[in-house]
Amino acid sequence: TSFGFKHVREEEKSQMVGDVFSSVASNYDLMNDVMSGGLHRLWKDRLVSMLNPFPGMKHLDVAGGTGDVAFRILDNINSIKGRASQDPLNDHLQEETQIYVCDINPNMLNVGKKRAIERGLGENKSLVWVEGDAEALSFEDNTMDGYTIAFGIRNVTHIEKVLAEAYRVLKQGGRFLCLELSHVEVPVFKELYDYYSFSVIPALGELVAGDRESYQYLVESIRRFPLQEKFASMIADAGFQKVEYENLVGGVKFCQHPDAL
Ligand code: SAM
Repeated sequence: TSFGFKHVREEEKSQMVGDVFSSVASNYDLMNDVMSGGLHRLWKDRLVSMLNPFPGMKHLDVAGGTGDVAFRILDNINSIKGRASQDPLNDHLQEETQIYVCDINPNMLNVGKKRAIERGLGENKSLVWVEGDAEALSFEDNTMDGYTIAFGIRNVTHIEKVLAEAYRVLKQGGRFLCLELSHVEVPVFKELYDYYSFSVIPALGELVAGDRESYQYLVESIRRFPLQEKFASMIADAGFQKVEYENLVGGVKFCQHPDAL
């Protein structure tokens, strides 16, 4: 059986996404490495370098799952702090840094909290775990310097609502960055990618995580995701300016809030 969302009602889609991530939570990080051959790490590094985090920033990582992006942002800020350890102002700003990891699925967040403890970040006040829906965020307007969503937006029911919420919570000049698996247009590579996605990934899901259906769903959700140009125009329609995207192996988009830079 495969999960196809074309004919299911909206509430059924949310329910299925919930079931999929509850089921994959404990194997999620291992499967990410297995399925992408470790590439997701490079893509996330790229995302964080484009974000350009700074000590004292307020950042929201939506669909943050097991904390992978948030840990990178914090590491990046700590390395800035390390480089400027002579400056007492940095210590002060460091304390004020807030990275919110927001995810709809408590199982994914629980895996993230355990990982934080393993990394010695259990008591770290900069990291805040929040259960919440990307389509209806609990954060105030104009409060965030940055917003990231990595491999999350294709799972939501209404992409436009997510983009509107991102725009609402970002401060003027704040940055929105989305990392997502998209469409490959290069011939031959496209065929290889399709074969890998539709045959290899569900088989790996079964082999490594004992769960073919959830991984089948993940692959199908990529195919249904809008093409790069279309998604870029949706981001612009939400009010963002200077929208850009960059294709890595699977497709990545970046954009900024008005008056950035
Ligand atoms: N960002 C993480 C990463 O890159 O490793 C996790 C990505 S995982 C593929 C997708 C995440 O999106 C899951 O943790 C799932 O629970 C979350 N998610 C799905 N729908 C959501 C929604 N409406 N609001 C917030 N999170 C959602």
